[in-house]
Amino acid sequence: MERLIERFMRYCRIDTQSDEESTTYPSTAKQLNLSRMLVEELKEIGMQEVELDEHGYVMATLPANLPEGHKEIPVIGFISHVDTSPSVTGANVDPQWVDYEGGDIVLPKDPSQVIRVADYPMLKDYEGTPIITTDGTTLLGADDKAGIAEIMTAMEQLIQDKDALHGKVRVLFTPDEEIGRGVEFLDIEKLGVECAYTMDGSKLGEIENENFNAFGAQITIRGKNVHPGYAKDKMINALRVLSFLVTQFPEDMLPESTEGREGYVHPHEATACEEEASLHVLIRDFEREGVESKQVLLWEICARTEERFPGAEVTCTFKHSYDNMRFRLEERPEIVEYAMEAAKRVGVEPHLSSIRGGTDGAMMTAKGIPTPNIFTGAHAFHAKTEWAAVSTMRKSVETIIELVKIWAEKA
Ligand SMILES: [Zn+2]
Repeated sequence: MERLIERFMRYCRIDTQSDEESTTYPSTAKQLNLSRMLVEELKEIGMQEVELDEHGYVMATLPANLPEGHKEIPVIGFISHVDTSPSVTGANVDPQWVDYEGGDIVLPKDPSQVIRVADYPMLKDYEGTPIITTDGTTLLGADDKAGIAEIMTAMEQLIQDKDALHGKVRVLFTPDEEIGRGVEFLDIEKLGVECAYTMDGSKLGEIENENFNAFGAQITIRGKNVHPGYAKDKMINALRVLSFLVTQFPEDMLPESTEGREGYVHPHEATACEEEASLHVLIRDFEREGVESKQVLLWEICARTEERFPGAEVTCTFKHSYDNMRFRLEERPEIVEYAMEAAKRVGVEPHLSSIRGGTDGAMMTAKGIPTPNIFTGAHAFHAKTEWAAVSTMRKSVETIIELVKIWAEKA
């Protein structure tokens, strides 16, 4: 089997599930089982400065191979994450090679798990080509082991191809991306790149140059508890106040009623009793004005609720989570343009797209390293129906290689 796929399936079999409840970093020690394997493999293929640091970051260098006296070329990076989502088990993953002939795919160990063409119309483009699925009992972990296998394979090919001139390239494999902590302890100086690309996208040709602006809102309701037998005209039940408050969220502004570039407000988690209730809300929008107007909306809802329940005290505080990376990427348009050109050179029609979430790339961009996201061929992230298209994974490898060459050409 070709190196790319052999690698991918081997990485998928290693359980690297992260844990949002954990207080350690990385959140689970088992992620390091893959990280250590990657260190050995990076050395084997001839990468230099290979290391696994105390926080679980794997870094390595592909040295420049330019003739003496050549102009300096910006150092670029490629990033993927080793962990898989806490939402579906990553133990005993058994990747299945499927020679896809069309139609829905029923997964062998749990026939209730079906990859449907209706959900993934792009499956039609893969008729007659191989795809990789789970056995139906776990996630696949193509998010983001497809990205790791693609970066590893691209680096190996660049090392072997002495004719491909390139600058210095840095590789980074992070833990805990799925719990939003992927770059928390990252030493940006040590990584030493001018820009980077996360290989953590999905559809063929998709290049993601923006993500949500994100805030959390904490709403606290103070009621008044009295013995229920003697509560007439005295009790203010915070639980009921909260139920009213939640019904005030506009129905066309929720995750379940928005898509594309629309933002949302999402009542996400609550606790309540008579005395006190609290609600955590996610605010997401691609535009800053959109975030601001949603904050105002929450203030209004709180005020309306206080009015409806005299004596109840409703407070709302906001906490910033992350920003849309587009604003910073627009200052350096060539970073995305080169990625688009690389895809074109390998016969792929690239298109820009928006991530309805956050990524390590957004955090990197906020730290001053512009980092768009490139397709990997993986689909149905965080589900037992997760699958990866082999032909698109190959195109991702080729895109990385061309992108590295383009940075050298343009310098
Ligand atoms: Zn991912």
